[in-house]
Amino acid sequence: MKVTSADIVISAVRPSQYPEGALPEFALAGRSNVGKSSFINKMLNRKALARTSSKPGKTQTLNFFIINEILYFVDVPGYGYAKVSKTERAAWGKMIETYITSREQLKAVLLIVDLRHPPSADDKMMYDFLKHYHIPVIVIATKADKIPKSKWQKHLKIVKETLEFDPDDAIVLFSSETGEGKDKAWSIIQAYMNK
Ligand code: GDP
Repeated sequence: MKVTSADIVISAVRPSQYPEGALPEFALAGRSNVGKSSFINKMLNRKALARTSSKPGKTQTLNFFIINEILYFVDVPGYGYAKVSKTERAAWGKMIETYITSREQLKAVLLIVDLRHPPSADDKMMYDFLKHYHIPVIVIATKADKIPKSKWQKHLKIVKETLEFDPDDAIVLFSSETGEGKDKAWSIIQAYMNK
């Protein structure tokens, strides 16, 4: 898809703040520092539209980006940050759960993982959580440029095995450095838009 416009619409903490209307939405989740902001910026051809905003102490918000006036990306705060308090963690969980379980136009969640390493326990927990609610997942295995091409398939296999990947879901090998996987990610998103 050719992105001609992309803008942040709102940083929401509660459902009353979610944008009105019924445009298809795609949420983006991943542990802190996995490369989620870089993924969003690469997909939207922007340098710094999405920023790492998941550090403790900052307000945890769902950031809604409208793209070409036809769909939304919803940036979910990163998880797995060691220094987050129990209270903050619980608030994060509640916010995500409310969004995931109540948002009818949510078409799929893009779960960003690091291709170089097996998914973490938190990644697995997030995947299980999404599967529990029957949410389609598009796994984005990013930072592919950091390992040799000859090892990509081996690493993809480890990602799938560790997550106990559902064969109905999609997985995309990605690099925000080279743009590898960008066209594939967009075609999968487009296929989900009308589902
Ligand atoms: P976030 O916390 O998940 O939003 O992560 P960022 O997008 O801020 O990325 C964390 C770090 O990983 C930054 O230093 C990025 O430059 C780097 N990074 C992200 N994606 C890639 C990638 O595809 N390839 C490489 N080589 N580095 C990446």
